[in-house]
Amino acid sequence: MAVNHQAAGEQGLAFLLFITILDKLIGLKQYGESPDSCCSCSCSASSAGDNINSSSYGLSWRLAVEANNVGPWRTVPIECFPYIETYMSGGQYYQDLKLITDQILSYVNEIDLKNDGMDAWVLDVDDTCISNILYYKGRKYGSDPFDSTAFKAWILKGVCPAIHAVLELYNKLICRGFKVFFITGRDQHTLAKATIHNLHNQGFIAYERLILRNVAYKGQSAVRYKSETEEADRRRRVQNMGKCGRPME
Ligand SMILES: [Mg+2]
Repeated sequence: MAVNHQAAGEQGLAFLLFITILDKLIGLKQYGESPDSCCSCSCSASSAGDNINSSSYGLSWRLAVEANNVGPWRTVPIECFPYIETYMSGGQYYQDLKLITDQILSYVNEIDLKNDGMDAWVLDVDDTCISNILYYKGRKYGSDPFDSTAFKAWILKGVCPAIHAVLELYNKLICRGFKVFFITGRDQHTLAKATIHNLHNQGFIAYERLILRNVAYKGQSAVRYKSETEEADRRRRVQNMGKCGRPME
């Protein structure tokens, strides 16, 4: 997980929150993206040595992934499951989120806003504002292959819980006068209703706009879709623009 600051627009600052740990550890592949860019990981428990416990193996695998020393992979080695489950459900994941959102809130509080309607913030949806942890728990946190059909069925339930640290950030942004936009790779035609319902029932109300992947970007990478959408926002000459979400690989 990392925070990055960058310029956006003529005067603005962009604030980029990369929520990478969950995404990388679970080998996230969403919305029917091509499976060709991913292949099975060749890691095995035996290669880690018989005297290394599963938690240590998970730490080693995580480091290798974060250092980009692991080739393309579709599933997380099952030996990593205890480590990931402990990280995700034992409190560390939420503590990491809280630290980053506290950093962002400190930055937000320092911004001198003119309240002229020209300040915008862009948030990703999945595993930024609302969590899919319950879906991934059922897939052994990525040890089972991603199932796009099951994932869409999960989304359609509209029960993804809010990530409270981000909800707190969201409410602060609204109170400070930011126009908040959501950008998601979810399909506009099939998932808009469930997404709107889910955001509302988790407290994400009063936002400016929810931008979903429309037919023009169907089948294209999330990178291109989200990057072009964000660039369009910049061309609208927003004064201050921040964004939070995982990198769009
Ligand atoms: Mg996301």
